[in-house]
Amino acid sequence: MKTDCDLLEQAGKSPRIALHCVCCGGGDLAKSPAILMPFVAKRAFGWEPVEITAAWGLRDLRCGNAYPLCNSVRCLRCGLVFLDIRFSDSEMAALYAGYRGPEYTAQREHFEPGYARRAVVIADGATHTGQVEAFLSAHVAALPRVLDWGGDTGKNTPFRSRCSLLHIFDISAQQVMPGAVSVDKHTVATTHYDLIVLSHVLEHVPFPASTISEIAAIMARDTILYIEVPYEDLMREAQDATDLHARKRYWHEHVNFFTRDSLSALIANCGLRVVDMQSIEAEGGAKRWHLWSLACMLDAVSP
Ligand SMILES: [Zn+2]
Repeated sequence: MKTDCDLLEQAGKSPRIALHCVCCGGGDLAKSPAILMPFVAKRAFGWEPVEITAAWGLRDLRCGNAYPLCNSVRCLRCGLVFLDIRFSDSEMAALYAGYRGPEYTAQREHFEPGYARRAVVIADGATHTGQVEAFLSAHVAALPRVLDWGGDTGKNTPFRSRCSLLHIFDISAQQVMPGAVSVDKHTVATTHYDLIVLSHVLEHVPFPASTISEIAAIMARDTILYIEVPYEDLMREAQDATDLHARKRYWHEHVNFFTRDSLSALIANCGLRVVDMQSIEAEGGAKRWHLWSLACMLDAVSP
């Protein structure tokens, strides 16, 4: 009899199409056809949209625009809604190379006119750091030693201005903010942190459990892992709809839409326990965002 952890590990090894939920390992999945947005398909696979015309001479197909197909999947056990395609490491690297840099922005502007203007608003950054610090203050000591995993420049790292150490681990290797230090995996593995921040990463990655397990391996017994992901409008506004997955018609950068149950299952399956969890509303980029915030620790009963 396979455990949820076994099934989750198996899901992590599926190279292309997820056969199990990537949070709880469940195999009871509802599916509905959707499309992969052209920009993502181009970056990850080199595919471009095409128009099928009568000149193709296809007997059984209708003429019209063709876009890459995929499935929107909903786990009937934990409620996670996700893209069935799981990108490989090399596809992820291609998708996020030079993220929001000049080449990335120009290519995205080609597929999504107006993106460059919207990106300026996004770059203005989050404005809810105070809310995050208030949430974490009950669990984190004063002047914490902080690691921001995937923290970009460290601009939005909680406690940035009142910590005793700030390390940024990010594949983008950008110039980090004054006071922060860009570090490699060796430094990460040999440093004690009071707080590890994993903010707006898990909605992008094909196997969230792999990322969390990698972090869990370097956590001390007293380390707090702060996780933040979007509480997507679809999940919030139609959470009781039985056809929730069918309402997700397209997929872009965010390939995992989380629920409270899916996050709880994910954390438990990675040997952690949730110390505190809340959904918050924040302002940023001239719109209101809904987010899940979690504080986690190693589970005392885990080996
Ligand atoms: Zn699930």
